[in-house]
Amino acid sequence: MAKPMSEIAEKLAAVQARIEVVARRAGRDPHTITLVAVSKTKPITAVEAAYAAGQRDFGENRIEELCEKVDQARVLGLDEIRWHLIGPIQSRKTGMAVGPFALLHAVDRVKIAERLSRDASAAGCVLSVLLEVNISGEATKHGFSPAEMANCAGQLVTLPGIQIQGLMTMAPLVEDAEMTRPVFRSLRTLRDELVTTHPTWNWPHLSMGMTNDFEVAIEEGATLVRIGSAIFGERG
Ligand SMILES: *Cc1c(COP(=O)(O)O)cnc(C)c1O
Repeated sequence: MAKPMSEIAEKLAAVQARIEVVARRAGRDPHTITLVAVSKTKPITAVEAAYAAGQRDFGENRIEELCEKVDQARVLGLDEIRWHLIGPIQSRKTGMAVGPFALLHAVDRVKIAERLSRDASAAGCVLSVLLEVNISGEATKHGFSPAEMANCAGQLVTLPGIQIQGLMTMAPLVEDAEMTRPVFRSLRTLRDELVTTHPTWNWPHLSMGMTNDFEVAIEEGATLVRIGSAIFGERG
C-alpha cells in the first residue's frame, strides 16, 4: 500500500495544481513559472517533507535563517535545493549574501547593489539578483520607486558583481486578491518598458505573488511565485 502523503506534500500538490490551472487559463506554459516554497520560521523537517515530494526551490526572507537552513539541508543530504533569499539585505550583511544562493529577490537600494557587487567581485563570483520595486508606494514596503528604478537601472546594470535578471514586488495585503492586479501589471509594464528601451538587458523574471494573490500574479506574468503558508501552514 502506498504510504500516505504528508500534509505538506498534499498542500504542495494542491498549490502546484492551482498554478497549472491558472497558467493554462492565462495561455501560459506552467513550466515557465517557478514555485518558490517559502520555509521561513518553519523547521528543516518541513523543508525535508517538501523536498521528498519533489520541491527544489526554497525561499527564506532573513539571511541568518537562510544560512542556517542551508547548513541543515546539507547535513540531511538535500543536495538539489536552489535557495532563494526573498527578503531585503541590510548593508552590513551583504557579505553574507555572497553564497550558494540561486537568486537574491529583494535588492532594494543602489547602496545594497553596489555593496553586493563589491563583495561578490572580491569573492570572484557574480550574483543573480532581482530589483525590488515598491509599486504600491506604501511607506512600510521596501524597494525602488518606479521613477527611481527607471533612473538608476542604467547604472546598476554596469555593476560587475551582480547580474540583474528582472524585478520583484510585494503587493499590499488585501482581502480581495483582485485588488492587487494593478500592482502586478505595473511591475510587468515597468520591466517591459525598461527592456524595450535597453534591448541588451536580459530581464526575464518577475517575482510576484504570494499565498493570497499568486493566481492574479500569474495572470499578470509572474515567473516566480513565493508561497509559504499555503504549503507549510500559517506561521505562528
Ligand atoms: C513570507 C513571504 C512570502 C510568503 O508569504 P505567504 O503569504 O506565506 O505565502 C513571500 N514573499 C516574501 C518576501 C515573504 O517575506
